[in-house]
Amino acid sequence: MSARILIVDDIETNRRLLEARLSAEYFEVLCAADGQEALDLCVEQTPDLVLLDVMMPGMDGFETCRHFKNNPVTRHIPVIMVTALDEREDRIKGLEAGADDFLTKPLDDVALFARVRSLLRLKQLTDELRVRERSLDTEGEPVLDVEVPSGAHIAVVAVDDRTAARLAAKLPDDVAAQSFGDPRDAVQAIGAGVDLVVVDLTSKHFDGLRVCARVRSDAATRNTPILAVVDPDARDQMVRALDLGVNDVVTRPVDAGELAARIRTQLRRARYADKLRDRLDESLELAVTDPLTGLFNRRYLASRLDQAAEGFARVGEPLSVILFDLDQFKEVNDKHGHAAGDFVLKAFADTLKSQLRAIDIAGRFGGEEFLVILKDTAADCAADAAERVRAAVARQDFSVKATGDTLNVTVSAGVAQMRDGETVGQLLDRTDAALYDAKNGGRNQIVLSRAKAA
Ligand SMILES: [Mg+2]
Repeated sequence: MSARILIVDDIETNRRLLEARLSAEYFEVLCAADGQEALDLCVEQTPDLVLLDVMMPGMDGFETCRHFKNNPVTRHIPVIMVTALDEREDRIKGLEAGADDFLTKPLDDVALFARVRSLLRLKQLTDELRVRERSLDTEGEPVLDVEVPSGAHIAVVAVDDRTAARLAAKLPDDVAAQSFGDPRDAVQAIGAGVDLVVVDLTSKHFDGLRVCARVRSDAATRNTPILAVVDPDARDQMVRALDLGVNDVVTRPVDAGELAARIRTQLRRARYADKLRDRLDESLELAVTDPLTGLFNRRYLASRLDQAAEGFARVGEPLSVILFDLDQFKEVNDKHGHAAGDFVLKAFADTLKSQLRAIDIAGRFGGEEFLVILKDTAADCAADAAERVRAAVARQDFSVKATGDTLNVTVSAGVAQMRDGETVGQLLDRTDAALYDAKNGGRNQIVLSRAKAA
């Protein structure tokens, strides 16, 4: 995994040593001697990760970290704080400043590279989300501002009930903890939805990594943060845990304050990613939906029709389409206004949905035209569906609430089944011609394009 890492340390020897070790692992390295230089470099060069010394004259590591995390340009870059002393207060202070992780000097290569890899992996994920939402012009809130709600659900998994309960007792008061001494119960509860998982890996009689792997591989829990408890000398295990996708590691004996700070960091990060994901879902939905009717839009219909046509060409599954057009819709708009017109379009869309099968793909093709794609469906069956919709519309009372008018709305439709060797354009032309016949035949009717030569 190649990445650009920024080293921030006031002592040149420290910078050089660290640079040599990281370069040897093929990382690209940038160096800064103080907080301000680090912030400037970060904005200019956007590194993938920052190794930040705590003790520096002037702006110390905590303050530098807060600046990183409050700047929209740099806030998503993971920061590992490096402390000379393994001071509990420092760790908590750092986590509260938004640091993503901690390492103690002298830096041990195994621990260093495991942390670096794990954070880079997480960053790749967030980066992907950020790239995908960039088109939306939303920079998102600062990670530190993302609120962590109290009452987060946390599952604690350990070798037996007693150990799990003891560990759960160390969690902060404002979370809802559940402890599990049986991995199967735990996996089930986690699958039902928890905000975070704490797994105790310190017992030889319990393969906690298996639980972690399971949580990671399950689609429903793929993004659930996992915090593992390890023995301070079990470095291999720590590395394996991080490589497996465990988000953070805390060493035994577990300090309740540090545990609380690490949990907050993980919950905050998970919520930030959730927010990015939600925004992405929204934008995807906007991209495929017609805002007025909630049906699919023309672009989406076109892509699905192409797909379906490929399916027809490949395996010969019958494919039919219906093109609906509301009769004399222009009159509705002219006589009753556009609000009434919109109302009719929406009401028709609802009727359309209620009369079709869930697998049929219905959308607004333009103006008052609606297209339905019926896969694995022959023309007769599609004509029946079209007729159901036509009859339902003819029966329906379209009363416009705002004006009190009751409108007499009817719909016409053309139906066609795709033929061998036909293109999507030819199929649509034929459907359109059938619709035209329906209009000419007096409206409020459907016409099936018969299998004669085109
Ligand atoms: Mg220093």
